[in-house]
Amino acid sequence: MPSLASVLTPAELKGVRALGAEDLEGLLRIVPNRYVIPGALRALQDVHEGEDVSAVVHVVSARDRRMRSRAGSILEVTVTDGTDRLVLTFFLQRDHLVQWHRSRLRPGERIVVFGTVKHAPGPARAERGELPQIAHPRYEIVGEDDALLREAMRPIPVYPLRRSTKQSTMRSALASALPHASEAVSAIPAAVLAAQGLPALEQALHLIHAPRTADDIPAGLSHLVFEEAFVLQAIFAQRRALDARTPAPALEGAGPLQPMLEERLPFTLTGAQRTVREAILERIGRDHPANLLLQGDVGSGKTIVALLAMIRAVDSGHQAALLAPTEVLAEQHFRTITALMGDLSRAGRLDGHPQATAVRLLTGSQRTAQRRETLLDVTSGTAGIVVGTHALLSDPVEFAALGLVVIDEQHRFGVDHRRRLRSKGPAGGSPHVIVMSATPIPRTAALATLGDLDILTLDESPSGRTPITSFAVPEENQAWEQRMWSRVGEEIAEGRQAFVVCARIEESEEAPPSTLELDGLSPPETAGAGDAAGEIAPRGVEETARRLAARPELAGARIGVLHGRMSSEDKQQVMGEMVEGRLDLLVATTVIEVGVDVPNATAMVVLDAERFGVSQLHQLRGRVGRGEHPGIAFFATRAPRGSAVLPHLQEIAGTTDGFALAELDLRRRGSGDLVGEVQSGLGRTLRFLDVLRDAEAIARAREAAFAVVAADPELEREPALREAIAHRLRDADPRVERS
Ligand code: ADP
Ligand code: MG
Repeated sequence: MPSLASVLTPAELKGVRALGAEDLEGLLRIVPNRYVIPGALRALQDVHEGEDVSAVVHVVSARDRRMRSRAGSILEVTVTDGTDRLVLTFFLQRDHLVQWHRSRLRPGERIVVFGTVKHAPGPARAERGELPQIAHPRYEIVGEDDALLREAMRPIPVYPLRRSTKQSTMRSALASALPHASEAVSAIPAAVLAAQGLPALEQALHLIHAPRTADDIPAGLSHLVFEEAFVLQAIFAQRRALDARTPAPALEGAGPLQPMLEERLPFTLTGAQRTVREAILERIGRDHPANLLLQGDVGSGKTIVALLAMIRAVDSGHQAALLAPTEVLAEQHFRTITALMGDLSRAGRLDGHPQATAVRLLTGSQRTAQRRETLLDVTSGTAGIVVGTHALLSDPVEFAALGLVVIDEQHRFGVDHRRRLRSKGPAGGSPHVIVMSATPIPRTAALATLGDLDILTLDESPSGRTPITSFAVPEENQAWEQRMWSRVGEEIAEGRQAFVVCARIEESEEAPPSTLELDGLSPPETAGAGDAAGEIAPRGVEETARRLAARPELAGARIGVLHGRMSSEDKQQVMGEMVEGRLDLLVATTVIEVGVDVPNATAMVVLDAERFGVSQLHQLRGRVGRGEHPGIAFFATRAPRGSAVLPHLQEIAGTTDGFALAELDLRRRGSGDLVGEVQSGLGRTLRFLDVLRDAEAIARAREAAFAVVAADPELEREPALREAIAHRLRDADPRVERS
């Protein structure tokens, strides 16, 4: 293909490069944000005030006059289609523009005109001889040539722009590039293309950049959508094929810890927990690495299932590692596991069980001496279970016999982490990997972004648990606000605990716009009033703690604060006090968003709730009601009455099913963000693919890609696909490193 510079003008080149296109193919793969699609042609007599019109008309007359108050002229062109007349009005600064329009709009000329009609027609205007108008219409001269008319009725692409590039510059750049579309190479093998009934890439690019009708656009896009899905699925297929060739320790030891641990559990497993446990044990019992995604709603009891799998590894003479995204969470897992295992976790100690293993915690903030001791236990194999944060991934950590890695709350981890952990497995082999997702992911989204994992779902919550009751609270209603705090006070008086979550650590900090604003949900009717939700500075942790201490409803409550700017020691201490019940109320940032498990906590207040995403709110309320007592959550907002915020919060409050909310979130935000959160390591966003809309294409792409990879694992016969995969992974890498 010729270079960009040889085909484009300097201005075009600048605009195109600003959009990230490096070559002609990259340019041709820039897809319009939208199209201006001319409405169906209408007769003028059927057109009403305020309607968008496309009409074929003849010019009757034209006249121009100087404006009185400003420089410039008004050009008025009267046109007719035989059913009615219309005036096209142009306000023009320069005389030469007046002349230019007049020279094109000569009486008798046939044109097609597009625009919005103003001035109600009707008897009144007829009496005054006033005609409906269109100000500054777009028009095309079509003469008596119907081919020109069809041309004029084509959808017009509207491209994304960067810097000062003009839309017309982008259009002309694409027009210059389009003749080279035949040289663009699709990643989809020809046989697949034919079997799928998709247009060839060259044709697809023409349909996208120069559609004749609105129907051409989705037909053209279908190629790029399928191609993107196909490349992703081919990556997954290759990873799975690699797994199938990689040895892993078969973890099939049946004792002695497992039966003893199950006896010690303070509850009976749910049916879903048992089913998923069996599926996991079956998979990690094989001698190739399992790659599992364990998902389940907040509070569905994923930790215990993971622990049972880790115990299986220890019973099989191997080690297991549990990774959490934060130290708070790693410490909590450590506490939970040692508590559940009791003397089974205290190998080598007087109070340990003779067959016990050792459970160790490894975090970045540990003191050197303690850390060295832990590392020794990891390397010698004394530690059967190691709980940690990212520190576990750092290079000096060597495991004696790592058989299983569990990654909790996946959305903070990239695949790259998974790959690095795998390198810590037995020589030449890989440990089994279980990823536990923080947020339920709708099935098609998981397939599109995490398709190299087998998905296991905990679809049942431990019985006897009352679902959390949630309320959206408009704080401008003082009675409601008071009622909210007295409910929190009542819980505390009953001996329960509460969380209050703030969007900021300090109130003075500059706040990014609220999530809702980013969602485009900000209420237009209040936006101009200067008091839209996004303009209220969010409340901070410290100030909120002080204000709550002064509230009569909370008199005497022991209040603590927790946020990311505290030292790990302080964080650990505060979390410890909360767990032990020495604090009644914890004011925190979203550091407590995922995973935190304080079974005695029953009340959750989220302040400035509109600043949090849907799944964030669901995660946050999942922090309460995890024990025997029912939980209550309040999503408080100071958004003005009548804004879109309250109904939105009410919708979340009214839906307790995390999967339903995840889908709601996806529909609202589009899949790009979700994919970013999932950090599949495949690039931050999907370019063309919409995981909900394109579910069916994803399934077809998956089947086709797996078949292609099965027949040709190294893709020797598909260089274009190989190149596309390399490109995708190369693009993804720097982002994964940042996480
Ligand atoms: P999540 O899936 O959100 O990570 P956890 O694993 O933290 O949930 O479990 C939530 C709470 O439910 C914990 O306090 C845990 O001890 C408890 N739990 C787990 N399984 C059961 C069960 N089968 N019956 C009763 N409580 C359970
Ligand atoms: Mg958890």
